[in-house]
Amino acid sequence: MLRIILLVLLATTIATVSSSTTAEVYDLVILNGRVVDPESQTDAVRNLGITNGKIKTISHDQLNGRTIIDARGLVVAPGFIDLHQHGQDEENFRFKAMDGVTSALELEVGTGDVDAWYAQREGKSLINYGVSAGHLAARMAAMKEPVTFLPTGEAARRAATDAEIADMKQRLEHGLQRGAVAVGFGIQYTPNASHWEILEMFRVAARYGASCHVHMRNAGAKEPASSVQALEEILSAAAITGAPLQVVHVHSTGGTATPKLLQMIGEARARGLDVTTECYPYIAGMTDIKSAIFNEGWQEVFGIDYKDLQWAATGERLTKETFEKYRQTGGMVAVFSMTEEIVLGALRNPLTMIASDGILEKGKGHPRTAGTYSRVLGKYVREDRALTLMEALMKMTLMPAQRLERRVPSMKNKGRIRAGADADLTIFDPQTISDRSTFQEPAQASTGVRFVIVNGVLVVKDGALQTGVHPGVAIRAPF
Ligand SMILES: [Zn+2]
Repeated sequence: MLRIILLVLLATTIATVSSSTTAEVYDLVILNGRVVDPESQTDAVRNLGITNGKIKTISHDQLNGRTIIDARGLVVAPGFIDLHQHGQDEENFRFKAMDGVTSALELEVGTGDVDAWYAQREGKSLINYGVSAGHLAARMAAMKEPVTFLPTGEAARRAATDAEIADMKQRLEHGLQRGAVAVGFGIQYTPNASHWEILEMFRVAARYGASCHVHMRNAGAKEPASSVQALEEILSAAAITGAPLQVVHVHSTGGTATPKLLQMIGEARARGLDVTTECYPYIAGMTDIKSAIFNEGWQEVFGIDYKDLQWAATGERLTKETFEKYRQTGGMVAVFSMTEEIVLGALRNPLTMIASDGILEKGKGHPRTAGTYSRVLGKYVREDRALTLMEALMKMTLMPAQRLERRVPSMKNKGRIRAGADADLTIFDPQTISDRSTFQEPAQASTGVRFVIVNGVLVVKDGALQTGVHPGVAIRAPF
């Protein structure tokens, strides 16, 4: 009798085990892909099982799924996280998805109305999205002028009163209380913002553990008012207040001083400061010609002339006459202020994340919007061998996720391939991945990204964008 009971028990146990390993049917299974995960440093062929938008298993075993992707010969990476993407609409997100981006956040300029910003995108978004509370928007509002993308009125030109600074603090504080991911700054666009004003904004960010994403006060190497001095200002602000700091597009602000800025950031980190930085793989930046960046003396600051400016709407190079004409009307202009050597130095430095600074409007803009990630993986990893695949993916996935984790704990489930992580994945062909966007034709989708999965849902399938799917969710701090 005892033997019979034992045999029955044994049989039951075996049945249970086998049903949980071989009979489980996942929503989505990715077979035979080369899984590259910077957190675990995995670079090996594995199968993934995904259910309910989460990675459930990473296995050598054959897995069963309702949908099956054969990823033989392809790299399976965590979805790319872009911490600096201004364009936050359907047009932009399509190009981002085709470039492998599964989360795009507007953290430099940010917004003045966090609730409205998130409400606008809820349930309508191809990829995950997020925003900071913006100092620029707070400053425009405090000075009682319409809140535009970049200030061109009072907020671009004069110092704030103590009452206006108090008003700005309150606006940032409210944004953070509503779950803003970070605090954004464009100090070069508000050159008369005092050092004390900036420090006051950092104090607010520090109270919420929010990182400050800063476009620095000055560009270039020329003293006084160099980018070195500008970095000293915000490193001090971070040290004084305790706010984490992300220095945005270090190379386009730094120009020839970029190696010095990276050295300073490394030294500050070695002394315990929470400071990080980012760059994009292009020798030109882009901004509004009407902004304070083009105030008197810009040629000397950037070491360039009119011919180094390219009008985005037409692709024409500017002259003194056309510069003055467009400066009146406003509009986006590409600024060719960097060399390939500066870009390469920034990309290869282990401190930099990749972030695009992208925005497309009706197909016009900078090629970085559509091409940043594929350009790094195609040109700089495959062709030039300037950095390894693992190094490049680290800068696109784990590092940006970690930057936000303190304030947004859900980011611990992004930027990694492990059981329990969000099923945000980018599957690409390392032999063919390439950017196709150019300064002449910026709205050209990248090629070589074969599948993109956002919260378990395919948004790119066999290299084609899927329509009618909106799996993107808000990346927002708990509130
Ligand atoms: Zn910027």
